[in-house]
Amino acid sequence: MKNRWNDNEANHYRESDLMMRVYTSRLLGQDDDLVLHGGGNTSVKARVKNIFGEEEDILYVKGSGWDLKTIEAPGFSPARLDVLKKLGSLPALTDTQMTKELKASMTDVSAPAPSVEAILHALIPFKFVDHTHTDAVVAISNTENGEEILRELYGERVLILPYEMPGFILSKQVYEVTKDLDWSSIDGIFLLHHGLFTFHDDAKTSYDNMIRLVSKAEDYLKAQGCFDAQAKATCEINDDSYLKVAEMRKQASAFFGNPLLVRWRQDEHCAGYSKMADIENIATRGPVTPDHTIHTKRIAAILDDNPKQGIDNFADNYQQYFDRNTDGQLTCLDKAPRFAVWKNRGCVLFAQNHKRLGVISDIFDHTMKCVQWGEALGGWKALSEKEIFDLEYWELEQAKLKKGNSRSPMEGRVALVTGAASGIGKACVDALLAQGAAVIATDINPAIENLFPSPAVSGVVCDITSTDSVKAAIQKGVAAFGGIDMLVSNAGAFPPSCRIEALDDEALEKSMALNFNGHVRVMREALPFLKCGFDPSIVIMASKNVPAPGPGAGAYSAAKAALTQMMRVASLELGEYGIRVNALHPNAVFDTGVWTEEVLKKRAAHYGLTVEEYKTNNVLKTEITSADVAAMVVALCSPVFSKTTGAQVPIDGGNERVI
Ligand SMILES: [Zn+2]
Repeated sequence: MKNRWNDNEANHYRESDLMMRVYTSRLLGQDDDLVLHGGGNTSVKARVKNIFGEEEDILYVKGSGWDLKTIEAPGFSPARLDVLKKLGSLPALTDTQMTKELKASMTDVSAPAPSVEAILHALIPFKFVDHTHTDAVVAISNTENGEEILRELYGERVLILPYEMPGFILSKQVYEVTKDLDWSSIDGIFLLHHGLFTFHDDAKTSYDNMIRLVSKAEDYLKAQGCFDAQAKATCEINDDSYLKVAEMRKQASAFFGNPLLVRWRQDEHCAGYSKMADIENIATRGPVTPDHTIHTKRIAAILDDNPKQGIDNFADNYQQYFDRNTDGQLTCLDKAPRFAVWKNRGCVLFAQNHKRLGVISDIFDHTMKCVQWGEALGGWKALSEKEIFDLEYWELEQAKLKKGNSRSPMEGRVALVTGAASGIGKACVDALLAQGAAVIATDINPAIENLFPSPAVSGVVCDITSTDSVKAAIQKGVAAFGGIDMLVSNAGAFPPSCRIEALDDEALEKSMALNFNGHVRVMREALPFLKCGFDPSIVIMASKNVPAPGPGAGAYSAAKAALTQMMRVASLELGEYGIRVNALHPNAVFDTGVWTEEVLKKRAAHYGLTVEEYKTNNVLKTEITSADVAAMVVALCSPVFSKTTGAQVPIDGGNERVI
């Protein structure tokens, strides 16, 4: 493991112990083999003057909700050291009492709640304490002879303690073991199946010790050939595989109680894992560390040619696991899996939103890696089911999940938007994102792939005049998010003005191909997925030209009129599946690329108007923006329009010819 300490960088943080703590915490946070998504914690002890001018010993410990990678000084909770130490000497304390007492020990009520490992940090009599959940050490401890291997590797300079529940019980364990210990005789404390503590009065030495101890475990794994043990392969993908993904999303979401995002990972590591001979057994032995369980559940679902059945089996097994372990007072959590191994086809992840999807995906990468290291070391062996259950249902872990649990209106739902690189399409992506939806954003412009920085967007190049291209784009989108609930069929182009007598075949066919056939093609290919969707809805971007055509726009108006007629037929055909189909007729949306200042001036002059008059030339005397159209798209996909299908909604500020 690389030691990331840099003297020049460190010099910027020397102003205080707390700033030095920020620096080395971030160093630890940069290695996801050490800490992952809020995992691990650090602290520093400092003398601080209170408001009366008296000096107090304060423990600054990582506050909940902060990540070591990006932590800043306000991310550390200041707590009175003597109070924490006294708490550590109590014979017993419930989790609720501990949380209350930790809060009461703080000297700044506006700081975040201290880590549940705060008491343990207080008990370690050094200024700097570093704690990580390092992959290498934890993976070794999750094997048959793990403890012996660690003892042999590290000798007498470390303490190796059996697994205990984090929080007060763990603090108590460390308190008892270290009561009569000469602390200078050890460099670290290993907690089996959990992680590692290092400490020192000097920030650099504590960090160096962490890197040194972890590197030793990594060197051992390397020497044992574990680093070459990770399987790689290619996924087996059939034509119907993508639809099966949408079906498993439907099934898992039913167990979850809300729509889930589903990611089908086909990369070589996932494919390799899914092709391991004994994968049903290997992937169902348990997690790397119990605290992953709140994100990923204890084990993977195992899926085969009938993945729906695999989801059902997982839910049954989860209920049995709950029944076996509950004390009768607990409420069973949802029974949907968080990750699955799809035999020979890679791995599938399930999450309520894109943020959780990212967390689960990262944890899954580390799980696959550690499990295979463990297998190479003689056999992966996780903690007992009961110990994992106790952590999964520990009230403090459940509280972590409940934080940030306010749902956005479209959370877990997936939209497909065509023509998403600019104008109305781009505004639709932004509006749907703001509602919490995940978006498959397609466009013929290759810039679409990186246009939206949000991980809730899958940008895919798509030419809607090609069936192969549409199929491929939909497949890519379904692999990213698991299905399609909303289709915003928007891609199109307004051809140059041309009267019928001058309209050549090519121009006519081009407009029909894009503004009519293309929409029908996208709808047709998306339909099997929409049928598995949640509150499925199609919004067709038509035009004011349908109810109120203008001369010179025949190729465009006729294509949009045909499209509107197709929308009406679709609403009749799709009602039985609960799919709503509606059309929007926008007019005069001038904040798109086509309408440069110059074009606007020209058109306004043509009608003898100023640009301002031209822009607001409607009944309401208002300007229509692409964001207005996008807001209407969101409304059409929302429960507000849940009883409406086959409708044509103008968004034009009121047009006398339409009214
Ligand atoms: Zn920990």
